[in-house]
Amino acid sequence: AARSRDNLRCPIIVIMGHVDTGKTKLLDNIRRTNVQEGEAGGITQQIGATYFEPSTLLNRCKKLNDTEKLDLTLPGILVIDTPGHESFTNLRSRGSNLCDLAILVVDLMHGLEQQTIESLKMLRSKGTPFVVALNKVDRCYNWKACANDPIRSALAEQEEGTVQEFRSRAEEAKVQLAEQGVNSNIYWEMGDDDWQSSDFVPLVPTSAISGEGVQDILLLLCRMAQEKLWRQLMWCGNLQCTVLEVKAIEGLGMTVDVIVVNGTIREGDKVVLCSMDGPVVSEIRGLLTPPPSREMRVKSEYIHHKEIKGALGVKLIGNGLEKVMAGTPIMVVGPDDEEEDIKAEVMSDLTSLTDSLSVDKKGVMVQASTLGALEALLQFLRVETKPPIPVSSVGIGTVYKKDVTKISIMKEKAGFEEYATILAFDVPVDKDARAAAEENGVKIFTADIIYHLFDHFTRYVEEISE
Ligand code: GDP
Ligand code: MG
Repeated sequence: AARSRDNLRCPIIVIMGHVDTGKTKLLDNIRRTNVQEGEAGGITQQIGATYFEPSTLLNRCKKLNDTEKLDLTLPGILVIDTPGHESFTNLRSRGSNLCDLAILVVDLMHGLEQQTIESLKMLRSKGTPFVVALNKVDRCYNWKACANDPIRSALAEQEEGTVQEFRSRAEEAKVQLAEQGVNSNIYWEMGDDDWQSSDFVPLVPTSAISGEGVQDILLLLCRMAQEKLWRQLMWCGNLQCTVLEVKAIEGLGMTVDVIVVNGTIREGDKVVLCSMDGPVVSEIRGLLTPPPSREMRVKSEYIHHKEIKGALGVKLIGNGLEKVMAGTPIMVVGPDDEEEDIKAEVMSDLTSLTDSLSVDKKGVMVQASTLGALEALLQFLRVETKPPIPVSSVGIGTVYKKDVTKISIMKEKAGFEEYATILAFDVPVDKDARAAAEENGVKIFTADIIYHLFDHFTRYVEEISE
């Protein structure tokens, strides 16, 4: 089909914000599930992708859409709830950002917090449009729950004192946002000019517990997607697909969780993937998704597909997927394609990264969760730290004993002791690796915020030079 405004793909929407603001709870409310209470310590451990069908969206927004009358043309939305927000926003899909829109969740009772501000900076540096959910509106004194109602009807039910508290807290959030250079307003009080302006941010009061305002945020996101972002959401035939995670699943073997951003992938397709050891050619033997309104990391019956159209979160089954790297693209080898060209293209991001690396013979090891995260970290260490921290080797995924062994040689070179260090960004460290590090005097610093790694390392260098 021709590219047109009438044939859009799902927008990919990411939920970001400070810990405990209610990101997972909000998604649970939309889905009517309870992932939040099932999580270890209530903390999101993995990336989850949830697809919402148009019928679900219309159903959820029915009351509000009676007056708003949005003619929904999207084929649904794909919502991503993230653990380390940095690693997700660093995921790219062939040069562009993986996410089209974001919900920045703020706890109305706390205002802007540290990670809120970091998320803000990230969203703005990538130019990702977003809405702010002023969540936990039910915590305003004497709030009368109006389960799942549009927020304006819920506010109309409250006593004056409650509305006043809400107003003053919302005003405070607005001021704090303005201090960060963000112009915002309660979304139904925005003027036409505000809507036209590309960097004006709508505020939506919500309660993830009783559901007030959830209709509003869903409908607003749909409206923004189809009225403002339709150009980037136009359907196209070429596969655009990014690896999120590689994992073994009982009964299925090694699988790769991907986001199909655009285009089509079919069972039987010959695809090329990127690994640290070079390109991997594989045949798609299975395409699995969770049922609509469920996410991948929740154990549920998978649905088998012959063909998938983006945007959707999909689990791929195939051979030789063990070493595939998160954050890298997948490409289909079509009948008219040269396999070698496709291989070179799939590997190109990694190749340019490692090419630039060979200059440092001395330096720390850097390990990150995705290719995009690795790039961001290397860029930071090179350009934004003074003096720059040299890097001698890099990797994606879990830190293993072999990595410790590799970097421990820095110990043997006079003056390079501090480089016997692994900076692990948003990745787990294997138990044996920890033991080996202890034994060999290799330092492993872990963090899921880039500059924390820098702080750890700088402090360590100061310590050992004393
Ligand atoms: P996340 O860390 O941002 O994913 O936050 P969670 O979804 O895990 O929520 C953190 C805590 O805040 C949990 O105890 C939730 O029950 C609570 N919470 C989340 N949203 C709301 C809300 O709208 N109202 C109230 N009263 N509590 C909320
Ligand atoms: Mg969470």
